[in-house]
Amino acid sequence: MNQNLLLKTSMLHLVVSAISVAACAGLVLGTRLPPALLVILLAAVIMVCTGIFYVLHHILKLDNEKHASNEKQQLQLALDSAGECLWEWQLANKATSIHFSTPYCMMLGYTRKEFAHDQKGWQELLHPDEREHVLRRLTRLFAEGKDSTYENTYRMRHKDGSYRWIHSRGRLFTNQGKLVRFIGIAADISEERHNNERLRLANVVFDSTHEGVLISDANNIVVFVNRAFSDITGYSYTEIVGNSPRVLKSGRHSKEFYTEMWRSLDNTDSWTGEIWNRRKNGEVLPQLQTITQLRDEHGLITHRVAVFSDISLLKSSQSEISFLAHYDPLTSLPNRALLHEHLKLSLQRAIKFQSMAALLMINLDHFKIINESLGHINGDELLKQVTARIQQVLDPQDTLSRFGGDEFAIVADSCNDNVQAANTAEQILTVFRKPFLIGQQDIFVTVSIGICMYPLTGLTAEEVLRYAATALSKAKDSGRDSYAFYDSILTEAAAKKLRIANELRTAIDDSQLTIHYQPVYSLDDKKIIGCEALVRWQHPQQGLLMPAEFISIAEVSGLIGAIDNWVMHQACIQAQQWQQLGLALEFISVNISSRLFDRSGTLKANLQEALLQSGLPAHHLELEITESSMMGNPAQSIELLHELRSTGVRLAIDDFGTGYSSLGRLKHLPVDKFKIDRTFVMNLPHDPADIAIIRAIISLSESLDLQVQAEGVETREQAEFLQQYPQVLAQGYLYGKPMPAADFAAMLAAQQPSPNSPQ
Ligand code: C2E
Ligand code: MG
Ligand code: MG
Repeated sequence: MNQNLLLKTSMLHLVVSAISVAACAGLVLGTRLPPALLVILLAAVIMVCTGIFYVLHHILKLDNEKHASNEKQQLQLALDSAGECLWEWQLANKATSIHFSTPYCMMLGYTRKEFAHDQKGWQELLHPDEREHVLRRLTRLFAEGKDSTYENTYRMRHKDGSYRWIHSRGRLFTNQGKLVRFIGIAADISEERHNNERLRLANVVFDSTHEGVLISDANNIVVFVNRAFSDITGYSYTEIVGNSPRVLKSGRHSKEFYTEMWRSLDNTDSWTGEIWNRRKNGEVLPQLQTITQLRDEHGLITHRVAVFSDISLLKSSQSEISFLAHYDPLTSLPNRALLHEHLKLSLQRAIKFQSMAALLMINLDHFKIINESLGHINGDELLKQVTARIQQVLDPQDTLSRFGGDEFAIVADSCNDNVQAANTAEQILTVFRKPFLIGQQDIFVTVSIGICMYPLTGLTAEEVLRYAATALSKAKDSGRDSYAFYDSILTEAAAKKLRIANELRTAIDDSQLTIHYQPVYSLDDKKIIGCEALVRWQHPQQGLLMPAEFISIAEVSGLIGAIDNWVMHQACIQAQQWQQLGLALEFISVNISSRLFDRSGTLKANLQEALLQSGLPAHHLELEITESSMMGNPAQSIELLHELRSTGVRLAIDDFGTGYSSLGRLKHLPVDKFKIDRTFVMNLPHDPADIAIIRAIISLSESLDLQVQAEGVETREQAEFLQQYPQVLAQGYLYGKPMPAADFAAMLAAQQPSPNSPQ
């Protein structure tokens, strides 16, 4: 009963009571009726009043109920039109009735009429898994018998058979412990729940994955990172979120790398590649990274998701695997497979450049016995020390490999001929003369070496290895601690040359070298105007040796620098002496080896020292450099020639015409003279081709304003031919062979008063 009805009923009761009291009072006071009749009348008045009260009260109650029903309908209408899914349980009566609003019914796919508006019908729609739980909640709520709020989430069957997640909130009304109404609203939260579930799963995945995940927004500000990201990079969530991912840059990539990455993102919304990033502690690490760009329905970029894995382990295991596949773990030297590769490449190079290289196969003598007596640990130690010893003598161009227990091999690109190869082998034998300290014990080990020169013998890697192995057997057969070539002739020749090299080493100190001077004749002045200093070796046993017998050996054994230096000093001193004796020469020339670049650093200093010591004016000294020696590195040659010329000396190109110089390069050479090679002069004046070449060289030198000197002039015919070009200087047996200083001085002296021309 509501307040209004209570008030109205109370007022009615008051009015009716007042009327009945007034009527009773009037009757009692105004009449003189007998008491019995008075009592009857009073009873009648009370009964009439009570009847009136009852009728009026009933009318009031009906009116009130109608009013309440109207109100409820209005509320219903309002909630329906607001789309609220309303439910209301009427609990005051014995039989519970439930009202569901139209939106509620529609939420489950029914019209209002189709929907069962009772507890049984509602109950049947509950998911069997949750039905019991929901009902128990309600029973407990109702049992408490007091006003309270209610909230629950459960599934209900839709008309289409699917289950929907329903979230229900309501309130229970009671009156003095009696249940009155249970009312509330419901909502279908299936979609939201689904999304939440997906998000939850995504979070679980993000957090359990080993891949680092970084999400940045359109402005490239980090909005999310997962746990793996923090584990890999060292940046915690709070440190990186809100910042730019740029803090991860390693600085190892070029600008172009990032430009390419952004181009790929612009074009395809994704990029995958290997990238080096930097950890918080400064370490750089390689990552395999995929960046995906997310766009909204308008095509605008909203986020970028970068997923990456740390591939440093993979990288290191890859390099470990490749190390094991190609290197010997004990010595870290290339193994058989890599030796094969090196050899193949070296062979290709040698064939392409028509050069020579050597394979030196090295075996420790009696290693098996040493290994067994020392024990394997000491045996391994010995192999390591052996490796270090061999490496001591290696040229940087050469590679040492270990391809078996005690089997080593050197692919020696530096050994362009058998002498160099023999020299390397000798050096290896020498470093084994010293003992190895193994476990506080001095161990003496010798080696045998087999050498194969390729491509001279052996055109494939297999052949070269086989021939070197054959050579190795020869070395072992000859008593070990020695080397042998596959080709026995090479062994003998190399041995001879090496012997010469050894003797040459002492020749300089023992003053066995001497210089012969060959005159250079001016066809114009008809007199000797210069000479060339040519070295000779007065060998104690073999007599006078010509340069052809020792210069190339001196070059490969590194002695040429000392020889050239000695010749230069002597020649300068000699020329200055003649000068002082009045035997003036325009120039004295000395030969500079084709290995001049090997010692380019000291050459200029030596030159200045020779000039200073002798007192010879620089312009009287001429340096002869062969055309071929400049071909390897033209730019470096030009620079060096400029440097040498800056001292004031003259420069000549020796053996000109044999070195394939390009005309374009010639004009840049800072030289003063071409010396036409003997081979072009030899067939004069009969060979038209040689005549044409000589004419071309002369006219070239004229246009470049250079001097020309013809070498190897032996006959008068040749001299007569050259006479056409009086500016040409001539050198050859016709004018004088190379001769000792005293003879040359006499020759010079003889031409002083009356020139002793051979013409
Ligand atoms: P080269 O510099 O071209 O010297 C000229 C060579 O031709 C000399 O040989 C000389 O004796 C020879 N020759 C001169 N006129 C004639 C001739 O009319 N007919 C023939 N058949 N030969 C003639 P040599 O003295 O045996 O020297 C040979 C090469 O050795 C020189 O060629 C030069 O390249 C080199 N050489 C000589 N002395 C030295 C030196 O001190 N240092 C260096 N690095 N090389 C030197
Ligand atoms: Mg010369
Ligand atoms: Mg020459």
